[in-house]
Amino acid sequence: MPALVPRSDFSLLSTNPNLVYLDSAATAQKPRAVLDAMNDFYETDYANPHRGAYALSARATERYARARGAVARFFGASDEACVIFTRGTTDSLNVVAAAWGRANLGAGDEVIVTGAEHHANFVPWQQIAIERGATFTICPLAADGRADLEALAAMVSRRTKVVAFNHVSNVLGAINDVSTIVAIAGRVGAVTVCDGAQGAPHMSVGFDALGVDFYAASAHKMLGPMGTGVLIGQREVLEAMPPYQTGGDMIAFVGDERTTWNELPHRLEAGTPNVAGAVGLAAACDYLTALGMDAVAAHERALVRFAYERVSAIEDVRVHGPGAAKRSGVLSFTVGDIHPHDLASLLDERNICIRAGHHCAQPLMRRLGVAATARASFYVYNDENDVEMLVAALESAKRVFAVA
Ligand code: PLP
Repeated sequence: MPALVPRSDFSLLSTNPNLVYLDSAATAQKPRAVLDAMNDFYETDYANPHRGAYALSARATERYARARGAVARFFGASDEACVIFTRGTTDSLNVVAAAWGRANLGAGDEVIVTGAEHHANFVPWQQIAIERGATFTICPLAADGRADLEALAAMVSRRTKVVAFNHVSNVLGAINDVSTIVAIAGRVGAVTVCDGAQGAPHMSVGFDALGVDFYAASAHKMLGPMGTGVLIGQREVLEAMPPYQTGGDMIAFVGDERTTWNELPHRLEAGTPNVAGAVGLAAACDYLTALGMDAVAAHERALVRFAYERVSAIEDVRVHGPGAAKRSGVLSFTVGDIHPHDLASLLDERNICIRAGHHCAQPLMRRLGVAATARASFYVYNDENDVEMLVAALESAKRVFAVA
């Protein structure tokens, strides 16, 4: 199984031919096309958008608008104005919890999150629920790590105002059934918030078709730059949401006593935007679209299936989460009682990058009954050889720790 893209598309991978990069769920490497697009913006069209009455500023504004269009197309969102640029998934989810939550939650209301959330889709909801006197409820997980849909259907009531859930678990790779969750929440009129940090990089999102109220993603996990992300929302929900931050660009009129707001998307993007970030994200979207998201998903499925078979065949290895057929390109495991951090350090000696720890998902770790796991995650530049290197390193680590 060859990689889906040549390593030569990625400067860092081609200048480090022995690097086995298996931490794309944390952050993905960047193709030259993304770096070139950002550089080109700085070299040819750089100025503050929206503010200058001169051609260069108009070009910067135009590039920012074009980037929004490309991102909207990638996410399947027909209403470009409902694509809000943010700093990343954490920022997007905090915007919703703080701005929407503060305006809409009150005593007696309920917020539901699943037990597999990244802290970014857990803590903001927990905190706003505490602040507003609302109940914070955790939806149990099915055996495969997805939200237990029967339990969710039984839990929701007219008190439920929000159901927040991940598209794909960053620990287990389990893919949630977004449309069914939206349908269950819809029965009681609850708003749905989907953390797409691990969904958008790996599969076609189709925002309009999903029907979710809010979808959040990070550029850096989908070949784009760090410090950029999106919050995509349904127009009526975004329009009813008060601004998260106030300041430049997001206003229509500022009076001495009161201020009125600009229209979407500017209303939710206060201050000078990260235009280079948006341009980079758009280039990443174009790069992924050229590959085809179905091809990306199929590549990862094949690779993770192979990795699942090979890694779970190693004695004393426990792979967490669903079977190979049902997961995206993430493999979390523990090897006997070797601490995942020790494992990661040993693998690093062989130039293999994996993640170790609680993966910002302590509530899920408790449910799995472990303090930490090791996690290998795959993307378009990984191939079968990367899996073989991982397996050989794990076998070797076992020998080292057996002797110690
Ligand atoms: N949600 C999930 C599922 C994640 O995997 C991550 C990052 O690992 C985040 C949210 C937070 O993303 P960021 O750190 O880019 O804001």
